[in-house]
Amino acid sequence: MNYATIMDKSVCYTPTARESEAVKKSVHRFFDTNFPHYIRKGTGIEKMFGEGGTFWTSKGWIISAMEKSPYYNGNYQIVVEKTLKREIKDDVICEFIHYLGSICEEWQDDYYNAIWAVLVEVKNRKVKYVDDQIVGRVNSIELKSVNKEYIKKAVHFGRKITKVINDLAGVAGFSCHSDIREVEQDGRKVKKDFGWNRQFAELCDNISPTEVKETVVISVHPRDYLGIADGDNWTTCYCTDKRNKSRYSYSGGNCNATLSYMSDSSTIVVYSQIKTDKKHPELLPKHRCCLFYLGEDKIVQSRVYPDCRDHNFESAKTLREVVQMVVADIFDIPNYWGNIKGTDICEKILEIDGNIVYPDHKYFNDCNVSFARRIDGYKNENKICIGTAKTICPECGELHTRNANLFCDDCEYDFAVSYLMSLGWNKDGAEAIADALEEDCALDGIMTEELEEVSDDYKDR
Ligand SMILES: [Zn+2]
Repeated sequence: MNYATIMDKSVCYTPTARESEAVKKSVHRFFDTNFPHYIRKGTGIEKMFGEGGTFWTSKGWIISAMEKSPYYNGNYQIVVEKTLKREIKDDVICEFIHYLGSICEEWQDDYYNAIWAVLVEVKNRKVKYVDDQIVGRVNSIELKSVNKEYIKKAVHFGRKITKVINDLAGVAGFSCHSDIREVEQDGRKVKKDFGWNRQFAELCDNISPTEVKETVVISVHPRDYLGIADGDNWTTCYCTDKRNKSRYSYSGGNCNATLSYMSDSSTIVVYSQIKTDKKHPELLPKHRCCLFYLGEDKIVQSRVYPDCRDHNFESAKTLREVVQMVVADIFDIPNYWGNIKGTDICEKILEIDGNIVYPDHKYFNDCNVSFARRIDGYKNENKICIGTAKTICPECGELHTRNANLFCDDCEYDFAVSYLMSLGWNKDGAEAIADALEEDCALDGIMTEELEEVSDDYKDR
């Protein structure tokens, strides 16, 4: 039997001239900020976002559907408020244990060991109250001091973990520890205490059973593709900030995947934010981010950054539920999905065009597929194609297949020459250096700092 898919990718969206201008301006601004020698030729941007541009033809069907949502913000995004259970972060617990170890004296060992035993259970099982396993673990410690009974009494079944730690630290004297340091704040030097009060408050924030409000954004805004790896304290190899202003050690080895995803007809960017701007969330960093692929009555979920492991956290589930709800709503079908997890099903469903996008779903077992359920049981197993084999160079508009570059080789060359000239080289000199670099393939994603070094090398010759 032949069913027509509810996700009809032939549906068009024609932007008004104003809309098209606004998107072009926003993308230009992104390149101005991130690429100091961006020339703004505009040819590539026009091909993508001008009248009949590739962006509108590939994502038009999704934009048309998104407009039906009451949460659509008019900026190619759907913005939904969501309450999430706070996640317990392992590194915060580890840092606290490390801190405690650093201030612990020999006579306090028993207390340290008891707190350590409790926190290891919290870290491994994300528990918030003392349970039998914790009691068992603490009882199994060989306690040396006379306070054995006190420790056992403090760690009793059903108690809140933070209370237990507070009690033990009080008796042991840990809670008197202070560590005053001078730090800069708004250009002024101020004294701050990095001791117990601060450390314990951070731990409590992390392990207390509270809920946080987050905003979930479902987006096809171009800036959100370019900012897939623009996390609030993380980034990935999709990072487009080649100069690493974001201070994390990623050089954007796969940064062109951002444009490849932007140009296909399947990929949407879904992210959460704690601090948001409902009209322009694309301008603020992402708390978590996950790509979803839509098509053939299916929703495919890829890896959630930065958490990575779906089964440890609720975030993947929360994001998936929001996407399912929204997709059901905008395509007017029941919010009723069958979900299958794993690389096998994802490989069966997905097809990648070219080599620019990274096939995460082949290796990451938490990727999953949601099938829209039909009353007659029909399951659409047609493939969804993601990525594009070639991307448009945002400057000159030529197609290229680079992984680590948003721009084509010729434009990278022009950038290098213009940058070297800004360092004082004449045109011939700058071109000679750029030629040599091109021969070494060193122009592939070279950063201005590197060019500066190369330039110095040449001066010394
Ligand atoms: Zn180019």
